[in-house]
Amino acid sequence: MARTKQTAGKSTGGPAPKKALAAKVSSPAAPPQATLSSSAEVAPRPQRKKRKAAEDPPVDAIMLTLPCTTAPQQPPEEANTWCAGCDDGGKSVDCDTCPRHLCAVCLEFPEGLDEPGHTINFYCPRCWLLNAEKIPKWTAKDEAEADRQPLGFFKDGKPLAPIRYKVPQTLRAQWPLSDTTRLVVLSLRLDGTPLLGDAAALIAHHFAPYYQGAMFLFETLTFDLDTKFEEYDNAVDKLAGRLESYAPAKIMVVLTDHSTPDEGCLHISQGGAASAGAGDVLFRLIPAKLQQVVRQARTSLLVLQVCGALNTGPARQEVADFVAIAGFQHAIGFTTPRFLPAAAHTFLQDISHHFFITGHAKRFQHILATHYELGMHTDIIMYFPAHEIYRYCWTHPIHRPHGHRPPPQCPVCFTLTPFDVASLTETSIVLKCSACQKNGIGAPRQLTFDAPLNFQRIDGKLWAGAKKAKTVQGVWYGEWLHTTRTGNGIPVYHL
Ligand SMILES: [Zn+2]
Ligand SMILES: [Zn+2]
Ligand SMILES: [Zn+2]
Repeated sequence: MARTKQTAGKSTGGPAPKKALAAKVSSPAAPPQATLSSSAEVAPRPQRKKRKAAEDPPVDAIMLTLPCTTAPQQPPEEANTWCAGCDDGGKSVDCDTCPRHLCAVCLEFPEGLDEPGHTINFYCPRCWLLNAEKIPKWTAKDEAEADRQPLGFFKDGKPLAPIRYKVPQTLRAQWPLSDTTRLVVLSLRLDGTPLLGDAAALIAHHFAPYYQGAMFLFETLTFDLDTKFEEYDNAVDKLAGRLESYAPAKIMVVLTDHSTPDEGCLHISQGGAASAGAGDVLFRLIPAKLQQVVRQARTSLLVLQVCGALNTGPARQEVADFVAIAGFQHAIGFTTPRFLPAAAHTFLQDISHHFFITGHAKRFQHILATHYELGMHTDIIMYFPAHEIYRYCWTHPIHRPHGHRPPPQCPVCFTLTPFDVASLTETSIVLKCSACQKNGIGAPRQLTFDAPLNFQRIDGKLWAGAKKAKTVQGVWYGEWLHTTRTGNGIPVYHL
């Protein structure tokens, strides 16, 4: 027999009384109180003191400690530590036109490579494939000398040897970069949000093997800007000072917080005790000194792991202002009101890998294509500098026609998921109930969904001929929300 029951809610998100943020502490003299945790150290440090049992961190903190206890080496500025073919170290040669390098296991190294007094040039397979401009053009005579293969090695400006793979092509279909320039992952978490399952920690665990403990820093700061704001102000000030000298080439900041429905104010204290305006909170959490570090980084990303009101409500403009001023290259947020952070974990791991390791940021759309399950849960908002805001929306002719969410049942005959496509154009989709007639309603109920202006499939294709609408996987669309190209995306929803 069915019965109702009350279970614990997962989130403490929801309304929280709005407060003004307390004034900033002017003097950073007071020592921060235990807010730094789970970090690999920047500089070599004295032997770690043996912990007494009483000082042991809680279990989740242990589990999140990264396995990078060795003192990091001082890195070269442009470090691409691993072979682009096999992602491993060993004897290798640097490409002259890109940061990739290839190892002697993947590629045949010609004789005479190490002879002193000669200039050797090498152009990697990826650069050959992309036909990089700097690669010398070879002549017919060169081709004969090089067995008619593209040349990889040049000696004193003359062809030396072609590229000869030693391992199967499948291993290096993409010749990814393995960019291991200094990276910082910073997790800013509302006090009380659990460490386990924290997206930033998961991402840091993913990055760690690429860095082997060097040139990689994972920091966590928890905040309560209502009752313990001094601690946070001091801790962030101290951290910013350390990062200033660390000078990361890449920085990722993940904010884990709740927001108030509709207004999108950010919670500043746990349990919904207090909230404050999104802009005020962001500028407080990432103050000028930290923004300076962000601006100096080559690649930067802010992830807003917060319920949708932050990215859909009036707070969205405040976020855009913050992103522009703080100098983040990209910021990502989610639109669904009851956002489940875990639903975005694989997606965030995937994009951060491409942003920070393989340097394939331009393939964002390709990455999206593999994450349609996230698209069923939420749209993604991307903030770019100069106040540009873009929405990515997974769409499906029946389940999300032109980005709208149809009701889960027919509004007249109450049949569950009864809809078929009655007509489909690039600007409008009409769904009709397949059960109304059977249920004696008469003419089947139809719902019309119009596409917002400037709403385009990111794969550039059209729906034309989508007869098997029920079986297609769906695709991602994009829409400019704030730019000179803004269209008004008011949904048209006829019942
Ligand atoms: Zn290799
Ligand atoms: Zn190259
Ligand atoms: Zn019906």
